Amino acid sequence: MLMDMDGKDLKDFVKKASELNGYAVGLRRELHAHPELEHELPFTEGVIVRELEKLNLDGLRPGMGRGHGVCADLVGTRPGKVLALRADMDALPVREETGLPYASSNGCMHACGHDAHVAMLLTAARLLAESRSGLAGTVRFLFQPAEETVEGAPSMIESGALEGVDAIVGLHTGSIWEGLEPGQIGWRVGPMMASTTTIRVELQGRGGHGATPHLTVDPIVMAAEVVSQLQTLVSRELSPFEPAVVTFGKISGGRAHNVIADTCELFGTMRCFNTETDAFLKERITATVEGVAASMRGRGTVTFSGYLPPVVNDEAITLRMRDILRTTLGEGSEHEVARPSSGAEDFAEYLRKVPGAFFYHCSTFGDERDHPHHNSRFDVNESVLWTGAAAMAAFALLWQD
Ligand SMILES: [Zn+2]
Ligand SMILES: [Zn+2]
Repeated sequence: MLMDMDGKDLKDFVKKASELNGYAVGLRRELHAHPELEHELPFTEGVIVRELEKLNLDGLRPGMGRGHGVCADLVGTRPGKVLALRADMDALPVREETGLPYASSNGCMHACGHDAHVAMLLTAARLLAESRSGLAGTVRFLFQPAEETVEGAPSMIESGALEGVDAIVGLHTGSIWEGLEPGQIGWRVGPMMASTTTIRVELQGRGGHGATPHLTVDPIVMAAEVVSQLQTLVSRELSPFEPAVVTFGKISGGRAHNVIADTCELFGTMRCFNTETDAFLKERITATVEGVAASMRGRGTVTFSGYLPPVVNDEAITLRMRDILRTTLGEGSEHEVARPSSGAEDFAEYLRKVPGAFFYHCSTFGDERDHPHHNSRFDVNESVLWTGAAAMAAFALLWQD
């Protein structure tokens, strides 16, 4: 066991991990050049299977989660619990503009760093396969499609990815989180990422000539009023200490400048960090839309869809990771993240079933090469990929001791 190991063995583990950075970089570039979307990931699946086959694992299951997800188990030499380590595999419909020699040319792009996630988890698998004699229990490597559409995690759960699993850990690399140094792991107990719900508002008026508004019920004016009113929910009705977001990103209604439309639709998203706030906002959005529309002689209906719960980290698992990082990668390798992110992650679906924690892996450059996630110039600092792999591998080796 690593915990029983002296400083030299610990140093050897870290040295081995850092020497595998080139392996991680090679895989990341191969995947980066061949991005695939949603559930259609045959190339990505092929790379994962090719690499896992070299490791002599105890069960390799490709074809999961609607076709291209992969699970593989590594059984240790002592009895123990089952830990799943998760990486997402999918890219985005973004045309790449990084100019990198291994840039994608197929019109899609790994603009969220999921190529690095796959590379880091394959590297962790290799590290762990070489340390099998020190492993208790089982590690399940879980490669998931379609995170960006938040359909991948449920599809993997449906095909049995969590069967027998006692805990799950995952991480997201990149630049979303402030205050982290390249290579550092960010952690937080409790809420880590927001819930998300899609909002659709339909406003029914009565169309007519733009010159005679008094003979119509104008849904465009209604929409303007509804949007303004809904912006007061977070600012006036929620506690200032309860973070939430209500954003309307799309309004669609009307076809000509002088015609009053019959209907107008609004599409938005809401983000928060607990089910009470989610329920409160849903109730108040519905009441506000119905009330405003009625007061303007129209009718408003609201539908909510695509709910994804918040990512809420288990305290014991999160703090265990912090302690393991301090012992293995040293003081300064971890950092407590001050605030959760208002982004959402379908990792939350796993946490509905088993305890676990989601971590941040900082892979910024600290210069002009840093761009936001989903940007056509997004890139990750490859020199620190090994720390993400080492963090997952060290956790798998030590979490039960
Ligand atoms: Zn993303
Ligand atoms: Zn992502």
